[in-house]
Amino acid sequence: MDPNQLFAQALPLESPWTVTSSAFEGNPKKLRLTVDLLAGTKRLSCPCCGEQSRIHERRERRWRHLNFWQYETELVAEVPRTDCTKCGVHQVEVSWARPGSGFTLLFEAWALLLVREMAVSEAAETLGIQDTRLWRLLDHYVAKAHAGMDWSRLKRVGLDETSRRKGHRYVTCFVDLDSGNLLYLTEGQDAATVAAFAAELVAHQSTPEAITEVAMDMSPAFRSGVEQHLPEARKVFDRYHVMALAGKAVDEVRKEVAREEGGLEKGAMWSLRGNKKRLKVEQLEQRERLCKQYSKLGRALSWREFLADAWRYATREAAEEHLESVYSWRRRCRLEPVKKLCATLKRHWEGILDYYRNGTTSAVMEGLNSRLQLARKRARGYRNWKNFRTIAYWIAGGLNPATGLPSPLPRRF
Ligand SMILES: [Zn+2]
Repeated sequence: MDPNQLFAQALPLESPWTVTSSAFEGNPKKLRLTVDLLAGTKRLSCPCCGEQSRIHERRERRWRHLNFWQYETELVAEVPRTDCTKCGVHQVEVSWARPGSGFTLLFEAWALLLVREMAVSEAAETLGIQDTRLWRLLDHYVAKAHAGMDWSRLKRVGLDETSRRKGHRYVTCFVDLDSGNLLYLTEGQDAATVAAFAAELVAHQSTPEAITEVAMDMSPAFRSGVEQHLPEARKVFDRYHVMALAGKAVDEVRKEVAREEGGLEKGAMWSLRGNKKRLKVEQLEQRERLCKQYSKLGRALSWREFLADAWRYATREAAEEHLESVYSWRRRCRLEPVKKLCATLKRHWEGILDYYRNGTTSAVMEGLNSRLQLARKRARGYRNWKNFRTIAYWIAGGLNPATGLPSPLPRRF
């Protein structure tokens, strides 16, 4: 069989297109496939109405295709413009690439597959293309998949702020508490972000009134944003956000003790932070030693552990009783940061106990954070924040941007 016919079959090309020449050119070598209309093709269907129309003129276009062995492959074709009596002159669409792309569909599918496994910059290097071109490709497919998200059954939303990169400005993310998928990401950390989300709801077959519950931290900006823009939503202050505040309070106590004592031993900050289960043996020992030595630290940590127990109860009543005891510590603990946090808890009492209505857990928020962490790694070296958002939507949004693309592989290996 003629190798050009084999190439045409493998691509695959549809009539009236075929491969008319194939050759290795240049140094480093590149396989160039010239794709052309079958001889004698005078008329093509108009891309607008489908009517058979005269070919007006032809313009050369090039597409990067999957490698042939270790060689880059390029498709070259003179793409015709049809002159339709009804619609006028239009460039015909080709079956192997989307309009405006310099890549074939198979190449694009391959690029998406690579980015699923590695950082965008590494994928661009592997593919031998500029990362800006790869970002544009990703943005096209992810934006399309995101625009197709159906939020008509969305009821419960989690709201959180995160940084794009260390030391950078904040972005606010909205997550579906039932599926765990990231819905929306926008710059800023104020009430305007909630207004932007409310507008986005309408673009996804939902309405602001459909949202019945929002899990969030206790920042006044978010609270007023939710009150204004999601009028039917109950505000739930979930464990994740409450315990984050408790962690900050303990940290303040530690700093106070360090000031009084002229410094604490090395590693004190880390051994006092977080869950006991996540600490190494040496850190646990250090924590116990510090708590014995400095009673303020001991009291602050006991209080934090006692607070954490509030989410273990089976009923709202029992949990409320427990929270009352947590609150009563303020009178005898003699720790300013704890007293202040107790007052904050009292102001958000109902919202904290609303956990027991639907069991709004923190697992979703914690899961989101680890997926955003992965998105940061994949997007390393991105040039603007929208690139980060593209990767975040893909990784944390549960999207499949390759939907509709031909698969470059028979199955996932
Ligand atoms: Zn037409």
